[in-house]
Amino acid sequence: MIPYGRQDISDEDVNNVIKVLNSDYLTTGPNVNEFEDNFSKYIKCKHSIAVNSGTSALDIALSSLGIKKGMEVITTAFTFVATSNCILYNNLKPKFADIDYSFNINPDSIRKKITNKTKAIIYVDYAGNPCNIKEIKNIADEYDLYLIEDAAHACGAESNGSKIGTFADVTTFSFHPVKNITTGEGGMVTTDNDDISNKLRLLRNHGINKEYNIRNQEQSYLYDIVTLGRNYRITDFQCALGSSQLKRLDAFIDKRTLIAERYKREINYPNQLIENNIKHAWHLFTILLNNKTERDSFFLYMKNNGVNVNVHYIPIYKFSYYKQFNFKPLKNTEDIFNRIVTLPIYPSLSEFDLNKIIDLTNKWKYCA
Ligand SMILES: *Cc1c(COP(=O)(O)O)cnc(C)c1O
Repeated sequence: MIPYGRQDISDEDVNNVIKVLNSDYLTTGPNVNEFEDNFSKYIKCKHSIAVNSGTSALDIALSSLGIKKGMEVITTAFTFVATSNCILYNNLKPKFADIDYSFNINPDSIRKKITNKTKAIIYVDYAGNPCNIKEIKNIADEYDLYLIEDAAHACGAESNGSKIGTFADVTTFSFHPVKNITTGEGGMVTTDNDDISNKLRLLRNHGINKEYNIRNQEQSYLYDIVTLGRNYRITDFQCALGSSQLKRLDAFIDKRTLIAERYKREINYPNQLIENNIKHAWHLFTILLNNKTERDSFFLYMKNNGVNVNVHYIPIYKFSYYKQFNFKPLKNTEDIFNRIVTLPIYPSLSEFDLNKIIDLTNKWKYCA
């Protein structure tokens, strides 16, 4: 089976991890700081805080803002469930705004969901396609809302010449193996705000009021717990992989872009609308079929021919756990969910496999 996404690990990546496994520190050692510094330099942001998953990144991103229990956070339902689970972890209420045919949250729909309890917006750059950040910022300024950017798909993407990770109050990334770079499991939070950065570091490490530094021989035994934190730390060997992968990120995106360009040129189904002045990170490549039965039939056909296509995403309000909140279905979210298919895209996808996928797609004829 050709997967829809997969990691690309080089010999150098492997060797960089082995070096750390043979060193003194498996966790909270020099590689964590190094990965954070490398990431900040790449994104051109002030602070990067590495954690053990993209979900942990979202959880502490929201906690760091100190929003009062029971307040509302507007987000999209057309995303991985972690985007809205983090709202529930923090005893806040998710409100889903609709998307448009960029597959990103629609600014007009955000406006309609704002109440006097709304405190933040979490927006997702679907597939690595940056949102209309200018318009979302205008809304945030107008209503005094925090912005969290879930950039799990958008590591390396740009809007108006700046990297994603520099726009929102807090931005989160994921390094799961299908994402643009991987640490196995892992994530990153970026911010330019010193106070938020300090809170994020506390929340990552049990709320301990100083960074535990095992290398510091002078360290006193005294420490304090100043907030309710977690253990969301990432290991040193994962961070060695992260730094090693980060060097390859631009080349990864170039490969993904070539694949996306061929799909766009050679496949006759529409894909997402893309803004001007952006650099797409192409975490996913999706097409829209005409209706649900056609999509379901295409999905099976591709699977039967050895191509593991996927559907990103089932709208979050459809899940059993979310039924208790009585969300109403959203028009564009429903339409796109019913018609969408994710085609394979990853740096090591071979010419042979890519030709096969394009060929299969073009040969396919839906018969009702
Ligand atoms: C992958 C993903 C996450 C969660 O990241 P993990 O590292 O798997 O915890 C969050 N949001 C979106 C949109 C994702 O795609």
